[in-house]
Amino acid sequence: MSDVPILKETTRSTGREALRNNITAAMALAGAVRSTLGPRGMDKLLIDDEGRTMVTNDGVTVLESAQVEHPVAKMLINASTTQDRIARDGTTSAVLFSAELLQNAWELVLQGVHPSAIGRGYRMAESACRERLNTLVIEATPERQRRATETSLAGKIHSAMQTHLAEVAHEAAKAVVEERNGDVVADPTRVKVLTNVGGQMADSHLVTGLSLPKKRVTSSMPRRLSAGRIALIDGGLERKGLMSDVKLNVTSSGMLEAFRAKERTLLLEQIDHLKSLGVTLLACKEGIDDDLHRVLAEAGIQAFRRVARADLDLLARGCGARLNLNVKALTRDDIGVFIESRNERVNGKDRWTVDTEEGGATFIACGSTSDTVGEVERCFADALGVACQLLEEPSLLAGGGATQIALARHLRRHAETIPGREQLAVEAYADALEVIPRTLAENAGLDPLDTLLRVVSQQAQGTDHAHFIGLDVLEKQPANMLDLGVVEPLRITQQVLAGATEAALSVLRIDDVLWAKQDPTEPELEPNED
Ligand code: ADP
Ligand code: MG
Repeated sequence: MSDVPILKETTRSTGREALRNNITAAMALAGAVRSTLGPRGMDKLLIDDEGRTMVTNDGVTVLESAQVEHPVAKMLINASTTQDRIARDGTTSAVLFSAELLQNAWELVLQGVHPSAIGRGYRMAESACRERLNTLVIEATPERQRRATETSLAGKIHSAMQTHLAEVAHEAAKAVVEERNGDVVADPTRVKVLTNVGGQMADSHLVTGLSLPKKRVTSSMPRRLSAGRIALIDGGLERKGLMSDVKLNVTSSGMLEAFRAKERTLLLEQIDHLKSLGVTLLACKEGIDDDLHRVLAEAGIQAFRRVARADLDLLARGCGARLNLNVKALTRDDIGVFIESRNERVNGKDRWTVDTEEGGATFIACGSTSDTVGEVERCFADALGVACQLLEEPSLLAGGGATQIALARHLRRHAETIPGREQLAVEAYADALEVIPRTLAENAGLDPLDTLLRVVSQQAQGTDHAHFIGLDVLEKQPANMLDLGVVEPLRITQQVLAGATEAALSVLRIDDVLWAKQDPTEPELEPNED
């Protein structure tokens, strides 16, 4: 086979060997994030190739910064990135669970079960779990929503900040929630984050409206405007620089002045156009000609230049305006409205804040060093993601491994009804779910197996709300997670199940791996040198 020319330049592993190698890679990856799971999880110090450091407890951050080459490990990292995008949380859980599914599959393969039977069993198990989840869901009251947001921060930042950030994230989420075609939509990207190195973490706060670290082009412009119209330019208000290959044939002495005067008239016409549209606030992506600063100020216009495109987009959404490439093309429909625009100095830094009808909010992340500010920023992003999600879909599940244990118990009963070899796969799926409570126990310094058994037996003995019993990692004993306020959005677990199952199934389907041989010690030859 290896005589086939295309395979000459590759190393190849097939069948069981391929599967074993792939699963080893998946387990190694899970090993890298295992110790970060849960509030008792440890932090990782990441160092990039330029020596910059970051301390984090976030699974997806660890994985994305690791320069992983193995294609299967990359597939799991993808699953974790998708988890982050869809549910904003549960990234470590997704990787641990998919690696565990693969490990358990390998044990079944050794017993002679074919990977495709395992695949079918895993699918059955996933759909049984999805159905079961509906019976485990708890309604997210506002108080529980706050607690769920705090749970998402557990272990990532100290507890006073967890409470503070959870509250701020909820306020921010409420500021951007809207109704679109009958659906409630809370888009976290509508919340702007500003960083402020120098203060205390606890000074981090929310301001209404959109705030940017900007100063108006001249201080003779008004500092504060109330209720007016805004124009957004995805370009500049400048003289056109001559292109390098343009020749200007100056034949008479006054010609250059005439040329300059014409340019200036064209710019002034643009300002007249702004005035005729009633614009009092102007933001441009590029520059504003120095000559125009005074003219704009005299027209009572507050103008800002070099505003990032992303910020212009946020302004456009908040003010109901449309971006245009230049002023001349502006029509009445492109103009938006604002309630107030103020340019002030806060702690020695310029800040421009625009309040609009459409709400919007800005989170000011503070901290004494850029590392701590970064930490606050990341934690806020997580908390905001969870808060927004809960406004869109107010359903919760119990955390602390309670839900996974309840699902595993359900699956084991369900497995008994399946006649074929898929039964074994459904049981393996149940075992894999328990990786979450086992790892939570391990990271809390408890014996994983004994702890798991204690929780399972309490759920089995329990009455109505037994499926809420999980592991309280702080008190190190089984407890009702609902009473403790350890709750999580339904979407996290739904996505962990779907994403991890999908990733595991794709790995199980591979039975042939071809690696291109890349030997860096051999210089690359020119094609016809030999
Ligand atoms: P992930 O990246 O998967 O979200 P985390 O490190 O955030 O990983 O850990 C989440 C897990 O920690 C969830 O299973 C959650 O239920 C659990 N957890 C959070 N707080 C507690 C707590 N106080 N007691 C027990 N488990 C908790
Ligand atoms: Mg989390």
